[in-house]
Amino acid sequence: MRVTIVGTGYVGLVSGACFSEFGHHVTCVDVNDEKIKALKAGDIPIFEPGLDSLVDRNVKAGRLDFSTRLADSVGASDAVFIAVGTPSRRGDGHADLSYVMKAAEEVASLLYGYTVVVTKSTVPVGTGAKIEEILMEHAPDKEWDVASNPEFLREGAAITDFMHPDRVVVGTTSERARNVMKELYRPLFLNETPVMFTRRESAELIKYAANAFLATKISFINEMADLCEQLGADVQDVAKGIGLDNRIGKKFLHAGPGYGGSCFPKDTLALLRTAQQVGTPLRIVQATVDANDNRKRAMADRIIAALGGSAKGKRVAMLGLTFKPNTDDMRDSPSLDIVPALLKAGATIHAYDPEGTAEAKKLLPDITYCDDAYACMNGADILVIVTEWNQFRALDFDRAGDLLKNRILVDLRNIYARGEPQAKGFEYYGIGRGGAA
Ligand code: NAD
Repeated sequence: MRVTIVGTGYVGLVSGACFSEFGHHVTCVDVNDEKIKALKAGDIPIFEPGLDSLVDRNVKAGRLDFSTRLADSVGASDAVFIAVGTPSRRGDGHADLSYVMKAAEEVASLLYGYTVVVTKSTVPVGTGAKIEEILMEHAPDKEWDVASNPEFLREGAAITDFMHPDRVVVGTTSERARNVMKELYRPLFLNETPVMFTRRESAELIKYAANAFLATKISFINEMADLCEQLGADVQDVAKGIGLDNRIGKKFLHAGPGYGGSCFPKDTLALLRTAQQVGTPLRIVQATVDANDNRKRAMADRIIAALGGSAKGKRVAMLGLTFKPNTDDMRDSPSLDIVPALLKAGATIHAYDPEGTAEAKKLLPDITYCDDAYACMNGADILVIVTEWNQFRALDFDRAGDLLKNRILVDLRNIYARGEPQAKGFEYYGIGRGGAA
């Protein structure tokens, strides 16, 4: 099959590379000339484990190419995936659909032969119908269908998630479109991956409902963590104790500084707006969003408290800035709340992130970036772990203790066992770990 992917970001590039690995011929298109130039030169513009070799292999096999021009490939494609961004619209939290609609218009004028136009971007219910209107206007005499195929991959594990998903959801009632989608995902059918065909509206909502549920799980355990601190319980044990119940499940029960990233914050807000529009309030999702906003803001206060109540003139050594490990993505990262609050309180910050520095510099220009974890500890008053990169999980506490002015560790990801840093003379502040060490 021939496929065009519109938008070559985290989702578009990974999906395109994976479809080409399935054996299809894929063209990834982007309006960003630099991105396409880089890809053509063999450089991957994002950090995603395994993506470089996957892209390289498929480019060399002649199954994957890159372009800034939709006209090069749309006409010959069996399916065109729209994978452009759908950020929060400034001011009201609705999903900004301007990139999606622009892409749909451009695609419409280039259709030739039967084509399935598929939304891979996360789009509010009803977006497929709007795209259909655009196609009716611009390509009334062409044969096409509009389907929804939301993407569930996680940055940092994107390739495995795409190749071995828990499920594939396809929203379309057209038999012809179904057959194209079945053929595209054939290797997964053979793997017995559950592939669900639904109404387009259901597929669109499944993505938002999934993200809202996961965000709720995080806010839930974060509130439990606060309670643990007051009651002398340990949230690690509470999470394990409830997670072993299969009805609850172990995943997504890690207390921390609040969820961030390119999806949960914007998707929960967009879902709330959709629900508001149709007069169906989602109180639980609203509470999740409020709890998370408060939580991100509260994290700087914890660090200040660990510094003895004032950050004025204090130097903070910060490990990790991205919203999670194994990505360079800084979008809505908790560090974007924590850093400005600490700076405002009079602290200076020396930070290290293994992959996020280039992105972080654009968003957090007023801190000092270091080349490794220990370099940022030199002379600092406190050590703070914001992102749980593997390389921070086994710090040499003797070395860290010698470099730091004070042996104080705030571990916002609970990556250290109770008592471990204390054994090296550290004052240790985890999340939700009430009671003595
Ligand atoms: P991204 O910002 O990394 O990439 C979007 C790309 O689209 C950019 O490179 C941009 O230049 C390009 N673009 C914009 N308009 C275009 C046009 N008209 N033609 C061609 N290219 C265009 O975004 P992303 O993180 O890949 O997310 C894309 C969508 O997938 C969003 O709706 C997001 O919610 C959803 N999603 C993201 C993830 C994730 O983990 N990042 C996971 C699942 C779903």
